[in-house]
Amino acid sequence: MRANMSLDVTAIKRDFPILGQEVNGHRLVYLDNAASSQRPRVVIEALERYYERDHANVHRGIHELSTRATRAYEGAREASARFIGAADPSEVVFVRGTTEGINLVATAWGYENVREGDEILLTVLEHHSNIVPWQLLARRVGARLKYIDIDEQGRLRLEQLDELLTERTRLVGVTHVSNGIGTINPVEEIVAAAKRVGARVLVDGAQAAPHLPLDVEALGCDFYVFSGHKMCGPTGIGVLWGRRELLEEMAPYQGGGEMIEIVELERATYKRPPHKFEAGTPNIADAVGLAAAMDYLERIGRERIQAHERDLLAYALERTHEIPGFRAFGPERDHSGVLSFELGDLHPHDVGQILNDRGVAVRAGHHCNQPLMRRLGVTATTRASFYLYNGRDDVDALCEGLRDVIEFFS
Ligand code: PMP
Repeated sequence: MRANMSLDVTAIKRDFPILGQEVNGHRLVYLDNAASSQRPRVVIEALERYYERDHANVHRGIHELSTRATRAYEGAREASARFIGAADPSEVVFVRGTTEGINLVATAWGYENVREGDEILLTVLEHHSNIVPWQLLARRVGARLKYIDIDEQGRLRLEQLDELLTERTRLVGVTHVSNGIGTINPVEEIVAAAKRVGARVLVDGAQAAPHLPLDVEALGCDFYVFSGHKMCGPTGIGVLWGRRELLEEMAPYQGGGEMIEIVELERATYKRPPHKFEAGTPNIADAVGLAAAMDYLERIGRERIQAHERDLLAYALERTHEIPGFRAFGPERDHSGVLSFELGDLHPHDVGQILNDRGVAVRAGHHCNQPLMRRLGVTATTRASFYLYNGRDDVDALCEGLRDVIEFFS
């Protein structure tokens, strides 16, 4: 435990050039971090430096720039492994983001391992990107999808696991942290139950990797996926971590250059993972940017980031308690910095619009969680989501904005 867990938000905010602006005549209050975070100057500079000094294609060239680019790209892979507690960097596959990572597993692992009559167990908390790829697979092979429900607070009903997990369950897909209502799921417990029936576990870490300390080995899962743009990194880059033995036996996802060893007219042999899954010229620059983002977050410390967000959530719940008609979704404990709420019977789009007029950026909608919204009996929510650069003043601005919304519609 560090001696000082609190963050110097004023100093951190200064690291993010975009946060210094005004929107609609007000200080920008950026509370849409679950959708995408902002980038610190060190990440922007790492991209600039890479393009100004080091860029060439990777793995093929023998010239200096290609060597540098390859070193930077493979260095980013090593940084990614360290960031999630993986022992072996070759278990890290660079992808476009969480969505592509899950599609890769559903395709390259799924078509080899899921057969007619098999089952895939998901949860009603899942983002569409951890539902639809499995629907596509299930329809093609004749498998069945099942879902773990939530209780009244929005926690997974783990008592259902005994009944839902069967010897036909091939895969359990679960989000580490819900982007819709902020529930932090007990992944270890779910993994232990899945292992008892021999099922593989994919964890969607899109809302976890940016916000809390992570150790994929300790979690015990088989696949872990996350996106760079939600953790101060560039868009278009993310990580799929998979156990080496699974990646070895999986079929390629896409074919092309960089992923092959020998190509004949009728057949080809493939490189070993991770290169087997990285066909074509990879997103080198953004991998370098992602490594800079991870370094930035590591220097601040994810325990401190998590503690800071917990503190902001508690403060926000205390302050919003006084606002008439405010109702928060999500559990009392094990709740991330995602605050989804209703404000009386006002439409979330109206709430978001008026907050925007005051420079406060929140998200309104179904958050790519339509099954969850249906389960909660709403069509949409308003969502404020915190990150390391948000302070109590941002929560205060949100609360003032919400009072303005109520006044506007009264
Ligand atoms: N899963 C979760 C839990 C998410 O929050 C998101 C992004 N909202 C995704 C998956 C998809 O991530 P991406 O759009 O970066 O692929």
